[in-house]
Amino acid sequence: MTETSSQATAGETLGFQAEVKQLLHLMIHSLYSNREIFLRELISNASDATDKLRFQAIAAPELLESNPDLAIRVAFDPEAGTISVSDNGIGMSREDVIAQLGTIARSGTAEFITSLTGDESRDANLIGQFGVGFYSAFIVAKRVDVFTRRAGLPVEQGVHWSSDGEGEFQVADIERADRGTQVLLHLRDDAREFADDFRLRSLIRKYSDHIAFPVLMAPVVPDDAEEAPAEEAVNTAQALWTRPRTEVQDDEYREFYKHIAHDFEDPLLWSHNKVEGKREYTSLLYLPGRAPFDLWNREAPRGLKLYVQRVFIMDNADQFLPLYLRFIRGVVDSSDLSLNVSRELLQQDATVDAIRSALTKRALDMLNKLAKDDAEKYQGFWNEFGRVIKEGPAEDPENQARIAPLLRFATTHTDQETADQSLADYLERKQAEQDKIYYITADSFGAAKSSPHLEVFRAKGIEVILLSDPIDEWLMGHLAEYEGLALHDVRRGELDLGGEQDKSEDDQADAGEHQPLVDRLGECLKERAATVRVTDRLTESAACLALGEHDMGEQMRRILAASGQQVPDSKPIFEINPEHPLVQRLAAEADDQRFADLADVLFDQASLADGRQLQDPGQFVQRLNRLLLELST
Ligand code: ADP
Ligand code: MG
Repeated sequence: MTETSSQATAGETLGFQAEVKQLLHLMIHSLYSNREIFLRELISNASDATDKLRFQAIAAPELLESNPDLAIRVAFDPEAGTISVSDNGIGMSREDVIAQLGTIARSGTAEFITSLTGDESRDANLIGQFGVGFYSAFIVAKRVDVFTRRAGLPVEQGVHWSSDGEGEFQVADIERADRGTQVLLHLRDDAREFADDFRLRSLIRKYSDHIAFPVLMAPVVPDDAEEAPAEEAVNTAQALWTRPRTEVQDDEYREFYKHIAHDFEDPLLWSHNKVEGKREYTSLLYLPGRAPFDLWNREAPRGLKLYVQRVFIMDNADQFLPLYLRFIRGVVDSSDLSLNVSRELLQQDATVDAIRSALTKRALDMLNKLAKDDAEKYQGFWNEFGRVIKEGPAEDPENQARIAPLLRFATTHTDQETADQSLADYLERKQAEQDKIYYITADSFGAAKSSPHLEVFRAKGIEVILLSDPIDEWLMGHLAEYEGLALHDVRRGELDLGGEQDKSEDDQADAGEHQPLVDRLGECLKERAATVRVTDRLTESAACLALGEHDMGEQMRRILAASGQQVPDSKPIFEINPEHPLVQRLAAEADDQRFADLADVLFDQASLADGRQLQDPGQFVQRLNRLLLELST
């Protein structure tokens, strides 16, 4: 136990949460080549803490004590091999210290860790997006001491936290006159180069220039110095979004993103705007390069950092963007909201609604611009976030026209699983008289691609969008049209392939010719099929299942059933291909039992090809075997 002060009491040694131990270990190895970022992370935390104090002091000015000038200080001692980053921000109580510096509170952390592969370069990326800020200190430090006191608590309730990052940490009560936090790094022997004036100043300028509070440094002072030389701000100390766009460098935008998003990686794109007039606000929206590990956790924090007249108000203000844009990070700074605004108040504020609607358009415009300017980068974005965007047409019908061009799909044009075709690409290739955009949904790309429903489309050279995300049927249900063309499920209704379909008199005659077979099948399958008809869809397969125009698709049924909801009862339409030898064989079958067996097998096969589950798989196998045995005798 490290005794740090003669007043130290109630010292205890605690173990890190298991996830912290694993992360620490992985991080020290995987971020080693980029270890200078520890300073950025510590200054970022100091800035967050200072922001929080400034906010709380609006309602409780006494929190500022006799020390109202908020600043961050960086000091070092080359002889001792130490660096210190301190702030006079909100500070931490003993409970805060144990909770914040001993555990990782984000839900899903354990799952995240199990997803790490042990492949260091891959894991470094994953860890980067997880954002393990404070712990990055251990990349360069063999021991870290934290001295802190929460604003508003008495001097005796200071806390000293100390750890060598090997699995345990010590906590002790100390007396601490200064409010806020000091993080003291005892550098590893191979990291002592960082305890250097020039090095630290250039790192601060490189990574932390955008921090809105002054980051102060003074030269090393000998112990016997009469008077300490005045500290000076190393950074610009101006909130980045308040500066004119033309004066902010791309690198500054990138570093600012890492600070606010707690991300170690560069953003893909950003959009910085100042709105003046009836409403005044500034927004800086970022598109992250990678989806966070908890993108699918509905409880995961999301939203923008909210400032009112440059004063930080709250993190994760989720009222400023819709759910399907939850991956956008950034800042909104409004001059029209009150400093006392709360989450509850934000929910029913006309100003917030107006900003939300403007930011939604801005974000969508930013994405559309990326799609236009840089298809490859956009594809990277789509691969990470496309499934979230697909929630858009349902959540935000008003912006459908902005969302639809963002969608990317796999189609029969490439027959590749990569979803990289836009609706505009599709329209460019559509046939002259084609008046619908065709799609098929299935459980997997393979099932979609080889569905018998595509046969006639392939034969006629009509492109079909291949959908296999669980959300796709939902998406298509809400996306009724694009550029005036209806989106049509190829399984649905009677096929009318516009001018492509030559419904010749021959076909009509055929239909009549096959009526006896159709009737016989209808009788035989009356429990299973809504109706039986001669197909327009098939050229190779014997039979398929089609849906009525308004029947619910299989995907939706399964989603509803899984969520315990009532699924409407409806039977599929059974379509047969009279050209197929099996169907011809069926037509010629005199034996009623064998006819029924064959009819059921055909129906079951059509179900399987449609990705459905058989109601009675055992019976299917028995029937099929009966037929196979007959063949071999
Ligand atoms: P993040 O910044 O993404 O929350 P970090 O690992 O950087 O994650 O920090 C963990 C937590 O520790 C912070 O959320 C904060 O609660 C606390 N913390 C870290 N540094 C400070 C500080 N200088 N002052 C007050 N709290 C701090
Ligand atoms: Mg941090």
